[in-house]
Amino acid sequence: MGTYRTTRHPDQPDVAVVGGGIGGLSAAFAVARKGLRVRVLERAQEFGEVGAGMQIAPNCTRILHEYGLLDEASKLGVRPENMVMKDAVDGGELTRLDLHDLEREYGFPYLVIHRSDLHGIFLRACERIGVDLVTNQKAVGFESGDRGAEVTFEDGHVETPGVVIAADGLHSVARELLVDDEPVNSAYVAYRRAMPIEQARDLDISEKDVVVYVGPRCHFVQYPLRDGQMFNQVAVFESPKALAGEEDWGTPDELDSAFEGTCEQVRQGIPLMWRDRWWRMFDRDPIMSWVHGRIALLGDAAHPPLQYMAQGAIMAIEDGWVLAKHVERQLADGADVADLDWDVALAAYNAVRPEHCRRVLITGRLWGKLWHHDGVKRLQRNAILRARDTYDYGFTEWIYGPTALTPEEEPEMYPVIPLDSVNVGQEASRTAP
Ligand SMILES: Cc1cc2nc3c(=O)[nH]c(=O)nc-3n(C[C@H](O)[C@H](O)[C@H](O)COP(=O)(O)OP(=O)(O)OC[C@H]3O[C@@H](n4cnc5c(N)ncnc54)[C@H](O)[C@@H]3O)c2cc1C
Repeated sequence: MGTYRTTRHPDQPDVAVVGGGIGGLSAAFAVARKGLRVRVLERAQEFGEVGAGMQIAPNCTRILHEYGLLDEASKLGVRPENMVMKDAVDGGELTRLDLHDLEREYGFPYLVIHRSDLHGIFLRACERIGVDLVTNQKAVGFESGDRGAEVTFEDGHVETPGVVIAADGLHSVARELLVDDEPVNSAYVAYRRAMPIEQARDLDISEKDVVVYVGPRCHFVQYPLRDGQMFNQVAVFESPKALAGEEDWGTPDELDSAFEGTCEQVRQGIPLMWRDRWWRMFDRDPIMSWVHGRIALLGDAAHPPLQYMAQGAIMAIEDGWVLAKHVERQLADGADVADLDWDVALAAYNAVRPEHCRRVLITGRLWGKLWHHDGVKRLQRNAILRARDTYDYGFTEWIYGPTALTPEEEPEMYPVIPLDSVNVGQEASRTAP
């Protein structure tokens, strides 16, 4: 048996959460707040997150506020002034969001935060509320019966809670109950680096903004972290070796050549990336059913995205919030925790979340294509983005507004502007090689 950080609930919990990433911990906290006994079982030796910064939009900070965790997140993170999109080839500005105005529009801030800080916020919140947090527990089998679910762990022990939330990430074991699929390789790879701000001061950077440079088959993101004391960079590119089917893809030589044709501001940042580790980018095709009996997928286990929308962790946090809201409805109607109708709560969860996340996953793929265009399509994209009014929220309304609890509350998607509707004839002939 693994190591218990708390032992308040030694018996079987109401809810077992498999996987202690941001998705698992935030879901554990969400249902524990409703008075349920919750245990999180994580395969790693320690709870933690690897990686660098992440962006959290108002549809997430709204939930953090409700949880009483927004002040802590705001202290640990940064409220950037703008999100600026630039062309990675010529460095010219394409469009921007005024993030302080966006905060007024949606009532909650856009934050950037180190992912280990966000994870730590949920870990401490779980500890405070008495969630059992168990490490060294790798789930190897999931089963669901009439009265509950069973999870078997590598050490042979079995959990038999009322409900299992499977938040076991991209390579989820529980997902196999619902679909026989594989992660989809995008052939793109991400390099990251979070560094003390002093190390970035020689670069031509904006310390108060999120800046995204979009270019042919590559993009580059920069933003401040930890109250401006740190600086985060993400460099993403398409790997020719991945496209050629080679095993050893995404290597630093490919990083360097992918950004050769970009502007000075981008090229300056590339040598500063961590060069000893990189993240190959996979997603999965959306699936519309996440519930098998008393087992519910959540987070990347259900909907691993390409990260272009910066909504992966946010969707996971929303999942737990929605499930807990449907539990709360039953409790408000007089149900006792012991007689919660999990079939009803899980059906309500499954009625609303897969469609929302399908939209984000599909948009993430389309967004990636849009960012990485070359030639005439790049010029058409640039023309559309430049024509956008900074204060037009038509493209963000469907995502940054309140999280839907029912299918009826899910907003319309953004208006699509076809690239071909833009005539860039003269500019295209001027820039042709
Ligand atoms: C480059 C990059 C940038 C990103 N930027 C953003 C961003 O700006 N904003 C945003 O919202 N999202 C972003 N994302 C996406 C986000 O990181 C993920 O969607 C999110 O972290 C998923 O959380 P999760 O808890 O569902 O899964 P994971 O973080 O994968 O956690 C799964 C957990 O389950 C454990 N586990 C796995 N298998 C088992 C098992 N069998 N038994 C027990 N435990 C198990 C793992 O050890 C892990 O702790 C980004 C992703 C990448 C790659």
